[in-house]
Amino acid sequence: MPAKPSRVGGWICANCKSLLHTRRGDAPSLFAARTRRHDDTADRVRTAFGSAGIATNTLDAIAPVSVVAGLVEPLLIARSKTA
Ligand SMILES: [Zn+2]
Repeated sequence: MPAKPSRVGGWICANCKSLLHTRRGDAPSLFAARTRRHDDTADRVRTAFGSAGIATNTLDAIAPVSVVAGLVEPLLIARSKTA
């Protein structure tokens, strides 16, 4: 679970008062590159899976976290039983 910054200075953890560090992967340029790579390849990967007879699922991740978690959990359970 990500740390929550305090309201007084966003670089201090609200829980333990430790200094928060930005993870390298959170840098805006890296996040943008990662998103671009996903956008550039997701359709081809999905098509390749379909061609190989492997079913894929889509999930609306715009919903609140608790709703998304409720949608993901059954998918993970179903996959773990078939692998
Ligand atoms: Zn903390």
